Amino acid sequence: MRPRALTGIRSVEITSRCNLACRYCLHPIMPRPKLDMTEAIWERVKAWVQHFVDAGTQGEINLAGVGEPTLHPHLARYCLEMRELIGPTVPCSSPPTARA
Ligand code: SF4
Repeated sequence: MRPRALTGIRSVEITSRCNLACRYCLHPIMPRPKLDMTEAIWERVKAWVQHFVDAGTQGEINLAGVGEPTLHPHLARYCLEMRELIGPTVPCSSPPTARA
């Protein structure tokens, strides 16, 4: 398999904390630390997204990973900042609790 060039950032885990315990999920037994993304890392995410926006290859972005994004205190600002970088139609994924 040949490596392909990166063309964008597709998913960013802004937190690995979660207050749920979905049956199918590895989160409850995940051994790595449960933490929020720091501002320093978020700034690097934005710089990479800007790079791919400038290249014309950045598409939608998902601000979720193994964790509950609504627990991050800056989720709303992060969504706004992504929309400012990528465009007003950028989908911002939501976990089950945000849809309830
Ligand atoms: S909300 Fe997401 S991270 Fe949390 S237990 Fe369910 S699937 Fe896993």
